[in-house]
Amino acid sequence: MNNGINEFINMHGEKKYAEIVILEYNFDKIFHYCIPQDLKDRISLGSRVTIPFRGKVTTGCVVGFLAESDVKNLKDIRQITDRKPILTPQVIRLTKWISNYYLCSWEKILNYAIPKTRRAWLNKFDITDISPQKPPRLPEDDKSSDNEIIFSAEEVKEKTLLKDIENIINNKKFKTVLIRGNDFSSRMKIYLRCIRKTLKEGRQAIVLAPTESHLSELAGLLEKEFKDNMVVFDEKIDQKAKYQKWIKIRNSQVNIALGMRSSIFVPFDRLGLIIVEREHSSLYKEERSPRYNAREVALKRAELENIPLILSSETPSVESYWNVHENNFLEEELNTGEERENLLKKTIIDMTQEKSKKKIISYELQQAISRSLKNKRQVVLFLNKRGFSSFMICSQCGHIPKCPDCNTSLSYHLDIQKRAQLICHNCGKRAKVTDVCAKCGSKEIRPLGMGTQKLESEIKKMFTRAEIRRLDRDSLIKDDDYRQILEEFNQGNTDILIGTQMVLKGVDFNNVDLIGIISADTLLNLPDYRSGEKTFQLLSEVISSFREISFPKEVIIQTFNPEDHCIVALREQDYNYFYQKEIELRKELDYPPFTHIIKIVILGEEKEAVKQRAEYLISYLEFLRKDKESAEFKLLGAVDMVLWKSRNDFKVQFLVKVKDLEKFNQAFKKKYDKMLSKHFDQKNRLTIDVDPVRMI
Ligand SMILES: [Zn+2]
Ligand SMILES: [Zn+2]
Repeated sequence: MNNGINEFINMHGEKKYAEIVILEYNFDKIFHYCIPQDLKDRISLGSRVTIPFRGKVTTGCVVGFLAESDVKNLKDIRQITDRKPILTPQVIRLTKWISNYYLCSWEKILNYAIPKTRRAWLNKFDITDISPQKPPRLPEDDKSSDNEIIFSAEEVKEKTLLKDIENIINNKKFKTVLIRGNDFSSRMKIYLRCIRKTLKEGRQAIVLAPTESHLSELAGLLEKEFKDNMVVFDEKIDQKAKYQKWIKIRNSQVNIALGMRSSIFVPFDRLGLIIVEREHSSLYKEERSPRYNAREVALKRAELENIPLILSSETPSVESYWNVHENNFLEEELNTGEERENLLKKTIIDMTQEKSKKKIISYELQQAISRSLKNKRQVVLFLNKRGFSSFMICSQCGHIPKCPDCNTSLSYHLDIQKRAQLICHNCGKRAKVTDVCAKCGSKEIRPLGMGTQKLESEIKKMFTRAEIRRLDRDSLIKDDDYRQILEEFNQGNTDILIGTQMVLKGVDFNNVDLIGIISADTLLNLPDYRSGEKTFQLLSEVISSFREISFPKEVIIQTFNPEDHCIVALREQDYNYFYQKEIELRKELDYPPFTHIIKIVILGEEKEAVKQRAEYLISYLEFLRKDKESAEFKLLGAVDMVLWKSRNDFKVQFLVKVKDLEKFNQAFKKKYDKMLSKHFDQKNRLTIDVDPVRMI
């Protein structure tokens, strides 16, 4: 695959001209420069160079070579900045792909991938031409363990799985393995084996983790064995340290890189393996430009470098599991701990059966909390707060008004005159708020949405003598407070901890015997086609907080929709059931992975200006529709355009649903630059998000 990058020219013809992306200006354009004779041997793809540009000297990155150029009066490249190129040819190709796929400029993604460099650092830790370090001698324990007598079926399974994966690593070909396993330490065992194998072959490995806490957990385990052979890119790393680590990588002084999403760009020459831990995590998606998803980029990098990729998760993303079913990925299941399941009770409470409709806590949950307190155990009450817009729900039958076209819940909004209305966040459809349930005719239909504060006051009234703390973003002013609340809880001084996703970080669940999920519905009904998937993943993670189970523990899930497939799958811990139901829905409604979604947002301070630009964009898209070279697509949100007020800005959002993304993007990019510079600026901003993770 050439990808439009002319790197092979030096094998066949003369390296006369370089194609350069200018790093200090935001153009989505490639410029041609002459390569002076004395630089010819040293210049390569990924080299940073200084070049004259519009009367100034600036920095660019070499992305291709040409034997001929039709541009007249080309200027010379002045200098090469780094002794060894800061990026490898493969990473250059990868960034080119990202720029096309995610509709962002090549300059943007190059600047994102390359660590910021000060001139003063260049000589200090420049890349030397030292010969690559020999792969270290590795313990042979993986050999000896093959001769062990095998006892349990679980171990047999683990062995076959390891053999499978090792074969894939031996083949040194592009292949994706999806490991589905609920036990981190078993997954870790596989990672270690695979990394050892890769290093033994003289190749290198990238390991990605979604969050800082997962990263430090992985780092701790990997450092035991590979301390001098690895670099870790944690959240707090500064640009200088990052640059130093890149130099180590370029010098082949280390062979393993561990980091969060942006570490997918590290410039290993002999990359042999990529591991993506918790591949389903939405944090692999960069929410600012360039809005790439590191899991997808890892997949592309593995393909470009022709190497194996390991994705792993307890609750794989629907996209990845769909790829297993399409035979693109190989699935390996690694579930352990039946004993654990026997000690863990999962109870679903049907809130429509509760007598008092206004209470947040069901009778059963109240009883369970009392029992825990009596047994001197601790309780965690989990409430999702992410859905900032609420929705209507019938407390008699659990019915929730949904958009007939998009199947996502209609959001409950008060307009400027405080009149309530229901709006679909996907397509803009509006509906009147009714006071009668369309399904059962009951009048018990009202907006649902509650905060941790309200929950805290209700719990305090119920359990007057218990020590109760709240852990959410609102209740915390300083990091110190956060640490103090955690410490108090982990020392056993707190009886009941109320919190949002934050409880998943740093809370010690050893003495906890009850987790109460207050309202699965607030998650299930986010205006997002992924709400079911997100609910299943998040609540599975909440349940998995019980790592070691040596005494009976219980999870209680309160919901108005106990028959929802996500809730049923949670109760049964049945991923396959969840996936089958979910993929049917996606197919029926033409959602990913059957299509791609592009989220287009326009933001600006003036209502009219935003509206005007939105109309312009719609006409641009309608013009594209007539372009024979473009792909067929659906445009949602344009007919009934909704202008939202978000903080100080007005906001318009459209969704494009398209099957052939590549074709669509090519057509879209043709006049995109012109449109962007003519109609959008700092005041009226346009953002484009391909395969968005958040729908609003
Ligand atoms: Zn809709
Ligand atoms: Zn009803």
